Amino acid sequence: MKLILLGPPGAGKGTQAKRLEERFGIVQISTGDMLRAEVAAGSPVGKEAKAVMEAGQLVSDDILVRMLASRLQQPDAAKGFILDGFPRTVPQAVALDRMLAEKHLKLDAVVELKVDDAALTDRIAGRFTCSKCGAGYHDLFKPPAKAGVCDSCGSTDFTRRADDNRETVAARLEAYHRQTAPIIPHYAAAGMLKSVDGMADIDEVARQIDAALAAV
Ligand code: AMP
Repeated sequence: MKLILLGPPGAGKGTQAKRLEERFGIVQISTGDMLRAEVAAGSPVGKEAKAVMEAGQLVSDDILVRMLASRLQQPDAAKGFILDGFPRTVPQAVALDRMLAEKHLKLDAVVELKVDDAALTDRIAGRFTCSKCGAGYHDLFKPPAKAGVCDSCGSTDFTRRADDNRETVAARLEAYHRQTAPIIPHYAAAGMLKSVDGMADIDEVARQIDAALAAV
């Protein structure tokens, strides 16, 4: 199964990608996670990306296309993958089409999570993850059962993304509407687009995705 998960920041792409990873035994490829790892490592790409990410803007197509091409070469991507956060621009979508065609691979579906902008700021501004196991939480919608302790692994160490604040979210939403939403017609025209209601609760969104994928 080869999928793209598409949607604005805070739509739930990461949460659904993790579930699909388990369900189909395929890898989640999150370009945001890859860039955050580069920033943490202080690599040349990380140094270039840091300020752009903190401003809520998009890192250059050139960097992202190279990063994704090398990630798709790795053996764990051979069985299938869920792209989370890529493509984010029309040139990235075109580059992905070319990369897949060269490998004689075909996407199975592009799943779009549709969410109202008004809900996104609250969703993003309260989210945090366990530093040890990566379990995701939210101050209001999904606090740990015991405050300050991860439900999954018991760690007391949590992290918040540097770009998950109200000011940056506005820029990220603007980037989504201006640069990413134009790729939706690209996939609709190819007959690959499956849109689901990302405003529903996590289990209901999962059910809608499964129903959409049952038909591919
Ligand atoms: P995400 O974790 O997907 O929300 O991505 C966090 C940030 O990383 C974005 O706001 C961008 O600055 C950058 N980023 C991630 N993926 C891409 C991409 N495909 N193209 C450009 N920038 C990206």
